[in-house]
Amino acid sequence: MKIHVLRKSAFSEKNRGQRCLLPVSFFRHYCPVIIFLLLCFVCNHCAAVTGNGNIFLDRYRNLPEVKQIILVEQSAAAPSEGTLFLFVKKTPEGEWQETLRCNAFLGKNGIDKTQEGDKKTPSGDFGLLRAFGVKDDPGSLIPYTKLTGSMYLCGDREYYNQFIDVSRMDHRCSGNSEHLIRYVPQYNYGLFLDYNKEGVYGKGSAIFLHCFGSYPYTMGCISVAEENMVKILQTVDQNARICIYSNESAGFVVLTDVVPEVETEMRYYTLYNFVGDRICGYEEPVAFVTKETAAALQRVVAELAPLGYTLKVFDAYRPQMAVDHFVRWASDHKDVRMKWYFYPEEEKETLFAHGYISARSGHSRGSTVDLTLYDIRNDCDVDMGGTFDYFGYCSHTDYQHLTEQQKKNRQLLQQVMRKCGFRGINTEWWHFTLQNEPYPDRYFNFPVRRL
Ligand SMILES: [Zn+2]
Ligand SMILES: [Zn+2]
Repeated sequence: MKIHVLRKSAFSEKNRGQRCLLPVSFFRHYCPVIIFLLLCFVCNHCAAVTGNGNIFLDRYRNLPEVKQIILVEQSAAAPSEGTLFLFVKKTPEGEWQETLRCNAFLGKNGIDKTQEGDKKTPSGDFGLLRAFGVKDDPGSLIPYTKLTGSMYLCGDREYYNQFIDVSRMDHRCSGNSEHLIRYVPQYNYGLFLDYNKEGVYGKGSAIFLHCFGSYPYTMGCISVAEENMVKILQTVDQNARICIYSNESAGFVVLTDVVPEVETEMRYYTLYNFVGDRICGYEEPVAFVTKETAAALQRVVAELAPLGYTLKVFDAYRPQMAVDHFVRWASDHKDVRMKWYFYPEEEKETLFAHGYISARSGHSRGSTVDLTLYDIRNDCDVDMGGTFDYFGYCSHTDYQHLTEQQKKNRQLLQQVMRKCGFRGINTEWWHFTLQNEPYPDRYFNFPVRRL
């Protein structure tokens, strides 16, 4: 209703009397109609939060206690900038209405925070713990704390990531803590996110939605103009969510969500891989692929089902940071913990030169998968005469020193994958790329983790 009134007055003032080509009576009659059409346009426009934002709106559509969602969408062009959308549930059926859209600043180094000092804003889905500010309570729905000189956001191990009043306790905060009242204008108004509410030391602390400071970025918070901060405080209650995301992964799905028949064994999430550690960027044991790849793999699974087989996936989308991890590992010639399992025939010094490790991987484009055939009846991998990620000749697709059955198994995998739109490579029998991959030139870097 607020929008309605505002638009009406703006409209009629502009057109009153002067230079008006249509009689005033026209507007008197049709004003409601025009305003209705305008509102329709605005609402349609608002509904169009793109890509990943819809995941969060859908998540809380049917949860009656969540009545407001703040979406913070990172800009694709500038990692420390984004757009904040405030959505309010209009009906009990879960219809969301956008009530605010404004610019926001994010961490200097973007989003996907993992540790204190990385200058990144956390990504994901968070609650709000409290409202506070140097200024008086502007009518906040969440109980509001007006800051005093004894309030800190503690960075010490003892009360890490806790909002504390040292006048009531036997603790003095060190320089790693934030003396909240000193952050003006940033903390004129603020909301404290429940990121790292467990207080894991070093995981990051003091993550706020607050007012703009003097730089076009933050050290890990989200900032908006003060007038917008007031609107947010007056609108969101304690059950509101704040969801921070990029749209980088909007064209991707979790493979098993689309093709539940697929088995997964995400080796780079586990320690059983050629490095011997969990690889950077693998935060959950899930296989991400582009939507087009998932659709093609669905056809593969349908082809295999009558034979009693399905697919087992070892790796799919691989963030660039994981590939960088491989490169760092390859340059450390002393670390040969997994040599006996994965490269007994190769010297570690030559892995790069022999093409086993490179600075870029097709997997980062999201349409490449490493997989094998899986025997559903016997609940085991099909014998391919070799293991995934073995660096050596026996991994070549046409390797000859195999049993007839092993050769047949490799051929079956190649044949079905090709039929469903993939191409293989000669050096690794398990590696396939979708022929018509949707992002042939993009190397993605978002972590492997559900939103
Ligand atoms: Zn402290
Ligand atoms: Zn591969």
